[in-house]
Amino acid sequence: MSQGLLYIISAASGTGKTSLVKALVGDEHGIQLSISYTTRKSREAEVEGKDYYFTDEKQFQQMVKQQAFLEHAHVYGNYYGTSVEKLNEKLNAGIDVILEIDWQGADQVRKRINNSRSIFILPPSVDALRERLESRGQDSQQIIDGRMETAIKEMMHYYNFDYLVINDQFENALNDLKSIVRENQLQTNHQRLNNNEIIKNLGI
Ligand code: 5GP
Repeated sequence: MSQGLLYIISAASGTGKTSLVKALVGDEHGIQLSISYTTRKSREAEVEGKDYYFTDEKQFQQMVKQQAFLEHAHVYGNYYGTSVEKLNEKLNAGIDVILEIDWQGADQVRKRINNSRSIFILPPSVDALRERLESRGQDSQQIIDGRMETAIKEMMHYYNFDYLVINDQFENALNDLKSIVRENQLQTNHQRLNNNEIIKNLGI
């Protein structure tokens, strides 16, 4: 039975990570996005069970106590966590899974799952990051200023990741992500599991 690979993708808010990950998952077969639990209020156009599982703090803390999370963190004033159960369902079905989580979550996952692959996405400049945060029009100026400050601190953790992608041109960054996924799919351990029949029929 083949086992899916786990990818961690992190970036500061406003780097374009969500759009990149959505495009990657849309174009690549056999790779899916893990849906996190959060105590954040849902934004317009966000769908329960598709973007996040929206919950309250009481229920979230209950899940923490029950050790239901592979990792969890407090980010920008809200709690976020990855459910072990939902993640394992996918990995055990041979599906590669992307965790779109912050650097604190990435640290926890790296410690617990030693064959995960981590990718950090950087914006091309501080100005580009601020522009992207402002153009979303979803958050107040106060929230944007807070996120800029947090973003700089968050980006300092890039060197702990296996891969670094710069999102200057969307298509180039998307191709970089696809190359990383393809490179990992072609590794012998992964290929052996997924091409079991071919290898068996070759008698090797
Ligand atoms: P947003 O509220 O903009 O959707 O996400 C805010 C931040 O929380 C992003 O950096 C995102 O990667 C992070 N995040 C989302 N889900 C999780 C999760 O399950 N665990 C952790 N550690 N971070 C998460």
